[in-house]
Amino acid sequence: MELKVYPKEELYLILMFIISLITYAILIFSIVGIIYLLIVAIFAFFTHGIFIGSVRGNSVRVSNNQFPEVHKMAEELSQKIGLDEVPSIYIMESGGMLNAFATKFLGRNFVIIYSDVLELAYEEGESAVAFIVAHELAHIKAKHLMWRYILYPAMFVPFLGSAYLRACEYTSDLIAAQLVPNGAIQGLTVLATGKRLYQKLNILEIIKQSEEEKGFWIWLSEKLSSHPNLIKRINKIYYETKDVIN
Ligand SMILES: [Zn+2]
Repeated sequence: MELKVYPKEELYLILMFIISLITYAILIFSIVGIIYLLIVAIFAFFTHGIFIGSVRGNSVRVSNNQFPEVHKMAEELSQKIGLDEVPSIYIMESGGMLNAFATKFLGRNFVIIYSDVLELAYEEGESAVAFIVAHELAHIKAKHLMWRYILYPAMFVPFLGSAYLRACEYTSDLIAAQLVPNGAIQGLTVLATGKRLYQKLNILEIIKQSEEEKGFWIWLSEKLSSHPNLIKRINKIYYETKDVIN
């Protein structure tokens, strides 16, 4: 199965890569720069290590015997997407927030699912959860996490860093929609309205809203964000999956 990539991702990736390489070269050629680079790298390494340590010490690790349904879902999706190894999956309590994210540390991939998302899986929302998990696996498969370290300097370029991150989100949505077309819209609308109201949502009205709500402030808020506006993501995935699920 050929995995889709959002067209602009590659362009942003190349731009970010060039800017990062130039920054690294400047830092390395100036002796003080190497010291700064090392300090930032060590600080980032420790901050991330402590965060991963906290996740592993406070969240519940999914396995064959712990939330086995989720484990099986992750195994099947990992195989479909073409990952050699199923990432370590942890369930984190998050005070009702609905989200999930993927991260990488010392070569090991992690997917953290907020507990309220998981509750959905046990309330007839299994395909919505599958879409959310597939989206995170897509970040791993598309090497978004690996690139993030190398591209670190370019992340600070206004508008470009966030444009690249948004392109990665669209790519992961597209791949996840290929894998779980029947859970795609639900997976995204859950993020918009929560785990109960999403079932009452009028999808066509959301599509209409995404085509009507335009203007400077909406544009600017999105340009500064690491994620595309949710109603735009819903719009894109609606047209992407419309023919597959009907
Ligand atoms: Zn994402």
